[in-house]
Amino acid sequence: MDQSADLTNKVHEHGGRMTPQRAVVLETLAGVSCHPTAAELHELVRRVLPEISQATVYRNLKVLRDLGYVIELDYGPSAARYDATVADHCHARCTKCGRVVDVPAEAVHDLEGAAAVLDDWRITGQRLEFCGICPDCAEDCN
Ligand SMILES: [Zn+2]
Ligand SMILES: [Zn+2]
Repeated sequence: MDQSADLTNKVHEHGGRMTPQRAVVLETLAGVSCHPTAAELHELVRRVLPEISQATVYRNLKVLRDLGYVIELDYGPSAARYDATVADHCHARCTKCGRVVDVPAEAVHDLEGAAAVLDDWRITGQRLEFCGICPDCAEDCN
């Protein structure tokens, strides 16, 4: 899909709520797969908008999360990471460097079967996370 056309549609759909600044924050997040923290994303957004403050990036991330365009991965108050992939998927997190990578939901067998056990629940999502040492960190140990 043409990402920028898609973003233009989103700006259109949400009228004033999707400001150009906000669209840049979303576009930047969508362009990386590293699940950055707000501080890391701020560094990336500044390449496009040098004047933008971290508080503005943070505020926009909260709005985008509330609009459903961004997932916030909660690793504690100052360590939240952000993800523009909102389709169902899982994560693997390196316990050494903190990087988070995507694991496609299809790769995790019987996630739906697991949810089916909770048949009297109204399931709104799942949060399955693998933990381990990423290849880069594993190399450092040798
Ligand atoms: Zn690592
Ligand atoms: Zn993800």
